[in-house]
Amino acid sequence: MPELPEVETVVRDLRAALRGKKIKEMVFFSPHLERRQPASAPAPDRYRGKKIEEIRRRGKMIIFEIEGGLGLLVHLKMTGQLILCSPARPSDKHTHARMSFYGIRKELRFRDVRKFGFLTCLNLCDISQKVDSSLGPEPLAMNFSDFRKRLLVYGKKKIKSWLLEQKIIAGIGNIYSDEILFRAGLRPERMAGSLDKTEARRLWNSMRFILKKAISLRGSSVSDYVDATGETGRFQLEHRVYGKEGEVCRRCRQSVIERKKIGGRSSYFCPACQK
Ligand SMILES: [Zn+2]
Repeated sequence: MPELPEVETVVRDLRAALRGKKIKEMVFFSPHLERRQPASAPAPDRYRGKKIEEIRRRGKMIIFEIEGGLGLLVHLKMTGQLILCSPARPSDKHTHARMSFYGIRKELRFRDVRKFGFLTCLNLCDISQKVDSSLGPEPLAMNFSDFRKRLLVYGKKKIKSWLLEQKIIAGIGNIYSDEILFRAGLRPERMAGSLDKTEARRLWNSMRFILKKAISLRGSSVSDYVDATGETGRFQLEHRVYGKEGEVCRRCRQSVIERKKIGGRSSYFCPACQK
């Protein structure tokens, strides 16, 4: 599933190409996407001729702010993709929506093989409410003291689950939680509240380092992820533990990476480097 760095990469590409552009047409092709529109959803026709004022990320969600108080909320979930491409490029049965614009030849397509993702028409005020009630703070926007406070408030959670819980901290998923914990030298099953100040500081530093590095390398492509231009990311080459069960640890060069289920999710770690 695309996590914060992948979604941020898509958002930056879309913002550069589409901010200030006016929507020519928005079309849904798939009944499942239309069924998922809430009763209060503005009709796609209302978006015609409206300017895209901003495109931003919150957690793993993408928010389009559109003229006249309109918005679009997109979650890529497992296999969703937002791709800018030529209208001439043939589209397949997994393309569920399309948007065209004035002043730019490319169109935007929402493609999703497994159909867990969503693209929802909403009024902007409803988006803020929905998003803010379901998500904790942004990991790259919070300071250390707030981070430490949250470790203690949700101290009875295992640190792996703590990092994955979107209500505690937004945007981190399975890949980055494992890589963050490895760099911090902390076992995934440690209780969040058991970290002393030095360990908490290490985790905070590691979280910021890993997320920033992953954004700079345009995310990790492990399954379907591609950016808005259809290119893969490069951070998968930097993975130290995720998906590496049975391989010799690249830091200690002695232990073998193990995998353990924590809170129903696979967690990869080095038993020697992580305490
Ligand atoms: Zn190791």
